[in-house]
Amino acid sequence: MSNRTAIVTGAARGIGLATTKLLLDEGVQVAMVDWDAEELARASDGLENVLAIPKDVSNPAQVVEIVAETEAVFGGITHLINNAGVADFGPMEGTDFDRWRNVMQVNLDGVFLMTQAAAPALKKANGSIVNIASISGLRASTLRVAYGTSKAGVIQLTQQQAVELGEHGVRVNCVAPGPVRTKLAMAVHTQEIIDAYHDAIPLNRYGNETEIANVIAFLLSDRASYVTGQTIAVDGGFECTGVGLPAL
Ligand code: ADP
Repeated sequence: MSNRTAIVTGAARGIGLATTKLLLDEGVQVAMVDWDAEELARASDGLENVLAIPKDVSNPAQVVEIVAETEAVFGGITHLINNAGVADFGPMEGTDFDRWRNVMQVNLDGVFLMTQAAAPALKKANGSIVNIASISGLRASTLRVAYGTSKAGVIQLTQQQAVELGEHGVRVNCVAPGPVRTKLAMAVHTQEIIDAYHDAIPLNRYGNETEIANVIAFLLSDRASYVTGQTIAVDGGFECTGVGLPAL
């Protein structure tokens, strides 16, 4: 990948940061977007060929600015990775409307808004998009009424975008990670949850951020030139077992 520019949302940590670093290694310039300005500054410090944009992907006006800034600095956009998300888990009756709306706004509206705003540039470049869902979007489980529904929306939205953008040479795919060993996940997963996941996952372990980023980079690349509208679970085989996700 040369002369390429990616926008990575949620780039301050976790999967977004790992994806940023992998793309940089492959010679892609990266606009790193995250609403956590402090963490974004820390994450982008010392990286070359990046533009840090501390903005909110669920805010329509800010999304337009994200795209405009990236084009102004890098001259175009070839890849979009819609990774920003909030992991807020709770039971249906304990999820008030504000909490529901917040999850939908970031996880689903954010993917809609970013893709809509970046589409003209991506069409010019015959670019490619990867949306990040979750295995929670493929299978229902307790405490994921908002999160799981938002991620199922991302999977369907991926297909809608792929169908509309296909004639412009733009591919849109989705990665559905299983449990990933991010700092955040490890802070909230009890030993009981960790053991339950290890038992349920055919590969008997959590994934790491780089293993997710590798699949994202593949789907973005010309190696996946005939793949669009697909969702790939990167989950150690968890999805194909049919076992429910442990309660968090
Ligand atoms: P993962 O485990 O998938 O990497 P994280 O929760 O660690 O997930 O990372 C998600 C990133 O998305 C965080 O850095 C967070 O600040 C960012 N983020 C969440 N909501 C927004 C938003 N509305 N706009 C921009 N970035 C966001």
